[in-house]
Amino acid sequence: MEDRQFRNAMGKFATGVNVIATEVEGKVHGMTANAFMSVSLDPKLVVISIKEDASMLERIKQSQTFSVNVLSAEQQKESMIFAGQIEYDQEFKFDRLDGVPVVPNALAQISCEVSGEHVEGDHTLFMGRVTDVKLEEGEPLIFSCGKYRRLEEQQVETSV
Ligand code: FAD
Ligand code: NAD
Repeated sequence: MEDRQFRNAMGKFATGVNVIATEVEGKVHGMTANAFMSVSLDPKLVVISIKEDASMLERIKQSQTFSVNVLSAEQQKESMIFAGQIEYDQEFKFDRLDGVPVVPNALAQISCEVSGEHVEGDHTLFMGRVTDVKLEEGEPLIFSCGKYRRLEEQQVETSV
């Protein structure tokens, strides 16, 4: 199977868009990611998946902490900055949650400590024990079929 065919199939599964952030020796690094899942309620665990050539990989291994920031519909620019899709020559200003860098105004800021690491194919799965969360009101940014999109309310026909 061609890679493109696989990616087209995976792209049919619409997701939100996150920025993962971590800090090593005072330098904060962000990376756009949609591979994310809630794993467990007791204890509270999430999982992210980082490809082997991403510079984020070594950084999380070193810091053993990361944040997941669920982007709002108004934050496509942040997604494009941290996916390297647009030039951004300034230092992005992060907030803090439980000492971990987080993206200001994200719909959910989730701070985590690494509780497990599993190499699978060309990605590493990091299990994160959630240490704190902070929420904002708003609509999510959506990624589907390789494009950024917004949610649209569905009109449900109730009469038969
Ligand atoms: P770089 O490519 O070096 O960093 C990414 C960009 O962020 C660079 O342009 C850098 O300048 C900028 N940046 C980082 N920190 C700062 C800062 N402090 N201030 C200002 N700018 C900064 N890849 C995965 O491995 N897993 C996924 O789940 C995943 N999901 C994705 C979902 C979407 C919707 C998209 C568009 C991409 C996704 N990617 C995913 C791909 C990933 O985002 C890119 O390959 C990314 O460029 C890899 O980042 P990197 O850590 O190698 O670092
Ligand atoms: P795309 O068509 O490549 O993405 C569609 C879907 O394919 C994604 O949502 C993801 O589920 C899957 N996918 C894409 N690349 C993958 C990879 N290397 N490993 C595992 N799954 C992958 O969309 P696009 O607009 O061409 O994406 C922009 C860039 O972001 C591409 O370079 C793409 O590879 C990268 N990306 C990587 C991942 C990932 O590593 N998990 C996820 C999404 C996008």
